[in-house]
Order: sequence, then C-alpha cells, then structure tokens
Amino acid sequence: MVSRVIPVDSFDLVIFGGTGDLARRKILPGLFRRYASGQMPDEGRIIGAARSDMTCDEFRTMVKEAVEEFDPKSAKDTENLSKFLDRVFYVAVDAKGDGGWKELGELLRPDMIRAFYFSVAPSLFGAIAERLKTFDLADDDSRIVVEKPFGKDLETARALNRSLAEHFLESQIYRIDHYLGKETVQNLMAVRFGNMLFEPLWNSQYVDHIQITVAETVGVGGRGGYYDTSGAMRDMVQNHLMQLLCLIAMEPPAKFDPDAVRDEKLKVIRALDPVEPHHIVRGQYAASDKTASYREDVENPRSFTESFVAMRCAISNWRWAGTPFYLRTGKRLKARTSEIAVVFKDAPHSIFGAEAGVHRNVLSIRLQPNEGMTLGVTIKEPGPGGMRLVDVPLDMSFAEALGPDAEEVPDAYERLIMDVIRGNQTLFMRGDEVEAAWAWTDPIINGWSNRNDVPKPYDTGSAGPDDALMLMHRDGRRWREIKE
Ligand code: NAD
Repeated sequence: MVSRVIPVDSFDLVIFGGTGDLARRKILPGLFRRYASGQMPDEGRIIGAARSDMTCDEFRTMVKEAVEEFDPKSAKDTENLSKFLDRVFYVAVDAKGDGGWKELGELLRPDMIRAFYFSVAPSLFGAIAERLKTFDLADDDSRIVVEKPFGKDLETARALNRSLAEHFLESQIYRIDHYLGKETVQNLMAVRFGNMLFEPLWNSQYVDHIQITVAETVGVGGRGGYYDTSGAMRDMVQNHLMQLLCLIAMEPPAKFDPDAVRDEKLKVIRALDPVEPHHIVRGQYAASDKTASYREDVENPRSFTESFVAMRCAISNWRWAGTPFYLRTGKRLKARTSEIAVVFKDAPHSIFGAEAGVHRNVLSIRLQPNEGMTLGVTIKEPGPGGMRLVDVPLDMSFAEALGPDAEEVPDAYERLIMDVIRGNQTLFMRGDEVEAAWAWTDPIINGWSNRNDVPKPYDTGSAGPDDALMLMHRDGRRWREIKE
C-alpha cells in the first residue's frame, strides 16, 4: 500500500500542561510519530507550557524520555527524534497569574497557525482562554483544544461553554473525544455512507438491536480521587459511548462537513428517550486475590460510585423506533475491548428447516484491540452431510488488509491534532452536542443519588454484575462475549 501522508501547514502548537501525564503518554509521542511520518512540517513547532520551572533543554529531555517510555519502537528512529526535539520549546506559565505569558508571546511567530491545547484541569480552561486574549496571543484564526471532562453536568458544561465563548468563536473550539479519532470510527462512516450494501438495512426493520461495549481490565489506578466524583456514567457514557451511539444511529449527513455531521449527531441525542431505572444496572468491582476492590482503590469505604454501567436505550425516530441500543462499560472486566455490534434480525423464514438452527448476521465494529470490522454471514458448511449451516466471519481487519503499513495508522490523538491544524472540526464535539448529552445523562445520575442507589458488586475478570446479563435476558437477547 502506498502511504499518502499529506503534510499540514506550519504551526505553533502550545501544549498547556505539557509536562503532565496526558502530554507525556499520548500527545508528545503522537506528535513525534507525525513528524517521523513526514506529516508535521519542518517549520512546525511545539511549545510546552506548564507550571514547572524548567529550561527548553530540560523539557526536551523530558519529551525524549516520554517518547522512549511510551513508544519505544518509534523512539528507535533516533535521527528523526533528535530533529523533532529541535522543534520543541518550553516556557513556564502560570495559568492563573501573569507569569510567563509575555515570554510565551515572544516565542510565537506571526503568520503561523496557532493552536493551544488545554491539557490541564478543566478549572483552568477559562483562565487560560482569558489570558490568551488579554496577552494578545490568539487571533480569529487560532484554535483551542479542550480535554475531557467537559463539565460534570449540564450546568457546569454550560458554564464552561460560556467561559470559552467569551473569548473564542465556536469554530475555534475543538472539544476532543479521542474515540472519534479512531480509525474504525471513521471507517464506520465510510462503510455506512460509502457503500450501498448496508444503508438500506440500517433501520429497525432489519436491525434487531445494537450493542456497544467498552470494557477495560484495569481498575481506577491513580485516578481514584477524580473517578470517585465521576463514575462510569460521566467518565465514559456521557462522552465516548454517546458519540459512538450517535455515529451508528445518525441519518446520512448531506455532506461530510463538520456542521452537517454534528447536526445529525445532535438529532440522535435529542431523540433519545429518558432511560427507565429498571433499564440500567450499575456495578462496582469487588476485590480479587490479586487486586483491591473499587472502594479500596478510591479509599472511600462508603462510595456509591459506579465502575460499571449497562443500560438499554431507545431512540424515538422513524429509523430506530423498536430497535433497542444496549450500552455497557466498566473497569476490571474480563478483557480490554471496545466493540459496536449491529445484530440483524433473523431471516423471516428458514427454508432449511428447524435443524439448521437460528443464524443471525452480526456486523462487529472493533475499536480496540485490532481495529477492524467483521460481518458474520451464514454459509453451507463445506463437505458432504446435507445442508448444514455455519456462521463465518467476513473479516476486514485493518492490520491484515493494510499489510505492513497498517502500523502507520495514526493513533487517535495524533490524527485529531493534525485535524486541528487543518481546521477540520468534524471529529470534535460541538458545544450544543455536549450540552444535549448532559441533558440526557443528568436525570439518570440525579435519579441514582435521589434514590441512594447502591451499585451491585461484580467479580474482577467477569462481564459485570449478573443483573446486567438479566437486562438482556429479559428481552430474549444476549450480550456478546467480552473478549480481545
Ligand atoms: P496532570 O496532573 O498529569 O498534568 C497537569 C498539567 O497542568 C501539568 O503540566 C501542570 O504543570 C499543569 N498545570 C497545573 N496547574 C497549572 C497552572 N496553574 N498553570 C500552568 N500549568 C498548570 O494531568 P493530565 O493527566 O495530563 O490531564 C490533563 C487534562 O487531560 C485533564 O483535563 C484531564 O482530565 C484530561 N485527560 C487526561 C487523560 C489522561 O490519561 N491523563 C485522559 C483523558 C483526559
């Protein structure tokens, strides 16, 4: 396969929080990969801006160590790594004070695209946005990238939107959800809207139900303090799972342009019914031989926060009325996997008789690991013995389909940052989308706290609480196995 990396225009990218965990694990190694692939122009510059007092050289050492630690394979390209480090700068900045802003201004070059990545706590977003304007560092063409969590409910999200809107236009604000940067997510749109095959079947007449699973094997790790104030609903469902739901359920946009796509996604969120309490199961992981319980991890023996949630949702529109969407996400589950499964209805009549069994087509869209799609089709089992049917996968695994170049598929973060430089907002959440998602999740979360709802314990390494299995059994359906 011929690699078709199109370089972006020259830019100055300032990473507020450039010394933080996210910058070291994802953003900086990702930028290096884009540089090594030839996509980041030689004139592009990355400026770390954070609280720590350090020199440019010390920051470069930190960046080098981050690339070596989090992408050892790419770090072997020492020639490119050293050239990349020449493009890296640092300035100590106080987000809440005046220190460092003048120096930052002196580093920025005129006539370059300016992008400011807010990889800091959301409580600093407003202060940084304000200072970018007071110190005259951002113009009408500058972009800001903001990280999750975007608020913790509708009210805080609105306040955040307002504080950013005081200084920046919506067209300058890139609310990042790295799930949208995944290759498969974009492929989902290509498959739906680039082929005649699927779209006619993509409705309640042919689709029995849709399952979206985002399962992790890890616990809350070092994020316990934050996570315990958030929970799976806020941390995963309100953003990542909702975004996946929107892409799978939306109407075809008239064109692949940011507002056309986001208008259609917004309509899906607005068409979501409120979720009945008996259609949601919350869980909390219990201790295992080797790992602590959720409550031990977050050091809160009375925590009622969920580390797992499963729910049945309904979209009230012509396309989807009657087709349930089952969502589930959790920590310390059996395997690390993210999958969307479109389960088609049974054929109306089996000409092969009851003994041939029930065979359903399932389109499985895997986001991780091994990004790709599989369509389960029913065929005759080869060989003698009459008409025996068997389900086999038509597999489109990107790693296999793209051959050796598959490893070049950019990670979500690096792809999204390049989109920021290109000025393409299609894969970023618009302010009204985020608010609509909170407007749907708030009553669910408030209902739990009003009822003092206690999450059900579940075993580490399981598929979540038994009640989650029952949620589907009651409907005569089954979750797909959680497996890598
Ligand atoms: P972190 O605590 O590791 O880093 C915070 C950064 O902010 C540091 O560079 C610090 O110097 C800087 N900072 C703090 N106060 C400052 C101030 N007053 N002025 C200037 N700089 C200041 O945090 P993180 O884990 O890198 O997360 C950053 C953001 O990304 C948060 O909004 C977080 O919710 C979000 N996020 C992180 C992850 C992750 O995996 N770490 C994943 C998704 C989203």
